[in-house]
Amino acid sequence: MAVTIGVPRETRPGEDRVAMSPEMAARLRKAGYEVLVERGAGESAYFPDAEFEAQGARLTGRDEALGADVVVTVSPPEDELQKLRPGAALVGFLQPLDRPELARALAERGVTAFAMELVPRITRAQKMDALSAMSTVAGYKAVLLAADALPKFFPLLTTAAGTIRPAQVLVLGAGVAGLQALATARRLGAVTSAYDVRAAAREQVESVGARFVELELDTGDAEDRGGYAKALAEDQQARQVELLARHVAKADVVISTALIPGRPAPVLITERGVEGMQSGSVIVDLAAANGGNCAVTRPDERVRHGGVQILGPTNLAASMPLHASQMYARTVAALLTEFTTDGAFTPGFDDEIVQGACVTHGGEVVHERVRDLVSG
Ligand code: NAD
Repeated sequence: MAVTIGVPRETRPGEDRVAMSPEMAARLRKAGYEVLVERGAGESAYFPDAEFEAQGARLTGRDEALGADVVVTVSPPEDELQKLRPGAALVGFLQPLDRPELARALAERGVTAFAMELVPRITRAQKMDALSAMSTVAGYKAVLLAADALPKFFPLLTTAAGTIRPAQVLVLGAGVAGLQALATARRLGAVTSAYDVRAAAREQVESVGARFVELELDTGDAEDRGGYAKALAEDQQARQVELLARHVAKADVVISTALIPGRPAPVLITERGVEGMQSGSVIVDLAAANGGNCAVTRPDERVRHGGVQILGPTNLAASMPLHASQMYARTVAALLTEFTTDGAFTPGFDDEIVQGACVTHGGEVVHERVRDLVSG
């Protein structure tokens, strides 16, 4: 009998993505799996049941999808862990560093869990990089939200009613989301600039036509071995906020994306910083789910502070569910097929990708950082 991959419908409010696309269902079937899709699972992402069926997936009820050998999800089915089979595998955004208690529960259930956010960012795993895929969506959409909220044009316009100056868009944190935001803002005609603590970001910022903001701040060792930012010392962080305020004040739009893995987001714009901005300016704070880069941000709300609007969307990828699901499903399918032998999911625990992404196995929390959090 074929090994089954289950695709439950997502139940988290506002989560319109799904972890499987009809295209990936066909690929996984070809690899020897049977794909069980809960009826309606793809509907919110605009993948009708009939498309899954046409690609050889079987439509099922929820319990059957959750009872599969391998269950793929966006968010973990946290209230239904008892429906997962002991010994089954679960793949999804499991937030293990933020929610270690969930990792403990998965271990107790005997599930082998893989967190897509922990897939190491090595070349071989690029096709499984779900975080980058979702950051691409978020960076793009953040600019559209900003353009919609901004009471001004983005592009330079020369009209009979006079000349309109282009919007100044400043991006704080030039990782994957930040670079996509810069590219998108430029396509809409804005003048773009960006700041990042990692020195390596300068070249990437310039490659998308933006100016790199130079601060008199020595952040020489701000990058860890994985290419991520490290937290700045307290005095450096305070100095950074002070130096940035001048640039923030000149921007019509600030898109902030600065994150440090496993820590609250650094506050880069204080309340006073917001008050220094021109009336009509807009901040889109993509770090809202991690506490926010702006002190005024409230998650999933639009705050008006004086003449400035501050938006704190926490799940922008879900607001573009078709492409976000298509991209996410590809990364999940890439992880599964990388470790498929004769139609079965056979992750080798000496593999760097498995070691990086596997959170629980054999009744234990096996990921070191998560284990420290669980026992700490
Ligand atoms: P992220 O989402 O963790 O953080 C976003 C950005 O915020 C980062 O660029 C970070 O340097 C920056 N930041 C953190 N603290 C800051 C502060 N105080 N001030 C200003 N900026 C601050 O990052 P990400 O988008 O996931 O990317 C992190 C790195 O990983 C980047 O170098 C990226 O190019 C790299 N990356 C590599 C691969 C790969 O090799 N497969 C894939 C994706 C990303």
